[in-house]
Amino acid sequence: MKDFKVFIETMTFCQGNCQGCFFSKEERVSGTLMDTNNFNEVLSNLNLYLKSKNNIKSKKDLDLTVVLGQGDHLSVDKEQLKSFMSQLLILKEFNPLVIFTTSALIKHHDLVDKVEMIREFSRENSIRIVPAVVLDIKKFKHEGFTLKYQENLSFLRESFGILDLVINLGKDTVENLSPVHFVDFINNNKIRHIEFNFVPTIQTLQLFETQTWVAIIDWLSNVAKLKKGTKIFHEYNFMQKMKSRVEDNSFKYLMSLIKESLTSHMYIDSQLNLTPAGFGFVGNAVPYHQKNGHQKNISIRDMKSYEELVDLYAKSALKRYMMDKNCSDCEFLSVCVDSGVDPIRQLVSKDDMAVDCSVNARKLFSVMKQSAEVASQKAVSENITNKDVSAEDSFYGFDEKTDIKY
Ligand code: SF4
Repeated sequence: MKDFKVFIETMTFCQGNCQGCFFSKEERVSGTLMDTNNFNEVLSNLNLYLKSKNNIKSKKDLDLTVVLGQGDHLSVDKEQLKSFMSQLLILKEFNPLVIFTTSALIKHHDLVDKVEMIREFSRENSIRIVPAVVLDIKKFKHEGFTLKYQENLSFLRESFGILDLVINLGKDTVENLSPVHFVDFINNNKIRHIEFNFVPTIQTLQLFETQTWVAIIDWLSNVAKLKKGTKIFHEYNFMQKMKSRVEDNSFKYLMSLIKESLTSHMYIDSQLNLTPAGFGFVGNAVPYHQKNGHQKNISIRDMKSYEELVDLYAKSALKRYMMDKNCSDCEFLSVCVDSGVDPIRQLVSKDDMAVDCSVNARKLFSVMKQSAEVASQKAVSENITNKDVSAEDSFYGFDEKTDIKY
């Protein structure tokens, strides 16, 4: 295991109101920051788990990312946030990259105050911390919030040297933001890393009827076409995978892909339950969670049994692919199996979806593949070699860790 990403639901309160949010409206309104003792317990268990892995002896053996999500961490009292953040020292020897979410909707002077506290902690302890702004599309469009967003986003980017933008995809995304407007916004604000989360839940499913899902795929495809080959921000996650996959649809190979992906994407919810996550379809991670119909999880205290849980989910995921007649001859099978498609496929799978794919994912993969090819050709024509920076890094993003300010 080289890359390991753990997603922790450390903050459930949020002022945003994205339709595609993994949290329900009730959770967002009544949500809180995870209790410091609980956070300590999560990180201590994680520390023990990582140390128990025979192949992980030091930070050099592991690229650890800790995502603290998904509500607004900056809405918390400064001292409370400070004491919470200080728990991160438990993982210090693994040199983690810590990403925390914010809606960036609090008053500017309040945001400045808390950001300076985080920056100071980051500098003093050499812990890499960066923000991810979850953009509420409806508020973003609203005139009253435009200035606040501009002011706060620009301060966050200047302070951390990097700004990660997250969109929780839903009907409100396609209805309120055109792909052209979105790509302009990204370019104008020098945003270099974007994530699109597509995480329908049983509770929000009524907002994801067939037409909406089709419209979301169209929206994503159009954004991918518009920004084809630009160096401004990360391409969708899967474009990176497209290039490295071999045409091997054997059971053994597919199983190894799924297991590798689930082993390295751990999700811990606010109730301290643990479950694997699929590498996000277009975002970071989609957990196998009871919210999207998967009941099996374990407590963080049983983290040592994580691989058994991974095994269970990997086998059932592969079975679902084997039983879907569209998948057997799909050119994207080896890309799709370890993606966030499987955790949500039972929710979005529909007979009236595109005939060649019951979750309509083929179309998006296809656009990404074309985009990846264009980027790759461009890298060759501009003579970018592995010696300088890999063509993939150049066109699919950048080495973000070197850009972070301490
Ligand atoms: S893209 Fe669709 S058809 Fe292809 S493997 Fe994924 S779910 Fe199956």
